[in-house]
Amino acid sequence: MSGNHNDNGKLSWSQDVQQGIRTARDLPRLVGNPQAGADSKKLTKIFKVRAPKSYIDLVNPSDPHDPIAAQFFPDERELRFLSGELPDPIGDKRWEKAPRLVHRYPDRVLLFPTFQCAVYCRYCFRKERINDEGEGFSKAAIASALSYIASQPELREVILSGGDPWTLSDRQLKQLRIELEKISHLRLLRVHTRVPVVLPRRVTSDLVDALRGRLMVCVVMHFNHPREITNDAIVACQRLREGGFMLLNQTVLLRGVNDDETTLKTLMQELVYSLGAKPYYLHHCDKTRGIGHFRTTIEHGTTLMRSLRGHISGVCVPNYMLDLPGGDGKVPLGPSYVERHSGQEWGFRTYDGKTHTYVEEPT
Ligand SMILES: *Cc1c(COP(=O)(O)O)cnc(C)c1O
Ligand code: SF4
Repeated sequence: MSGNHNDNGKLSWSQDVQQGIRTARDLPRLVGNPQAGADSKKLTKIFKVRAPKSYIDLVNPSDPHDPIAAQFFPDERELRFLSGELPDPIGDKRWEKAPRLVHRYPDRVLLFPTFQCAVYCRYCFRKERINDEGEGFSKAAIASALSYIASQPELREVILSGGDPWTLSDRQLKQLRIELEKISHLRLLRVHTRVPVVLPRRVTSDLVDALRGRLMVCVVMHFNHPREITNDAIVACQRLREGGFMLLNQTVLLRGVNDDETTLKTLMQELVYSLGAKPYYLHHCDKTRGIGHFRTTIEHGTTLMRSLRGHISGVCVPNYMLDLPGGDGKVPLGPSYVERHSGQEWGFRTYDGKTHTYVEEPT
């Protein structure tokens, strides 16, 4: 297997997994604190714990508020559920048309080939589902989802989500891609994955080859902090772009991780400059239970967006999105630059704070 040989003394991706945290039992060994395992027993029941070694190595152990650790290390605040928080915050179940398939929008569906991930993000929007259903890939599990997709001629796009689809083997991914290619109305294969962030050495040329075929491939990665943009991530993204894949990124706006102007600006710029990835969405934190400590206000998110728009290249500016609870769908949160509108006269505020009037010509 190409992922298993050692290159310049670095861990191969499979060693990276093996030497990382795979279950709660590995916690004390890695954090050098034998109490950590006991303390977090209750927490890791609420949500599994997992992180590859090289991702753990990005943590600065002398920072109690380290933005990398905050993303995978259990925290007792996860036990605090707020009254409006939900077990299925974006209403996946409401739009589930077959097991592991969510059809919410006209031309695209989500397909969950697995509920396993390379890392378990403490703020995950789907954390309860992933914890309860934890199953991996099997052909039988997605057979009816594939028949459903074939039966809906308006579909153009399948989004592999989960779980992390890149925890599948190259062989499984290739099989899945070939099955999807047989459905002639499909045009786009989208993959939502955190593997290029937390396990970048898994992005091998064999993985790229497994996905290359008739369908346009769009890889939506999930970088949340500039420190995640490592040399290995740069190499992985280069490989993906050379493979001919579109490269996008979605970020979750997380309190204490990336909710300040400098961090967010640097992240958005480096995604483009270092990785060649277009920032696609900045997600407002969902109403998942036990992640209140990560959630910012919409007001704060909007202020952060104003500090990006116009100040940095438009290529680097994502859309700030809210996924309405219960499955009502995604809405862009702006901010809006329209100040007033009456008849043919519009008032706008530009990025530098100045107001201007625009009059439409009658035609
Ligand atoms: C977010 C989401 C999509 C993808 O939406 P885009 O705006 O195309 O990125 C598709 N289906 C479901 C159910 C979703 O929640
Ligand atoms: S990788 Fe994605 S699905 Fe998995 S825990 Fe993180 S946010 Fe959730």
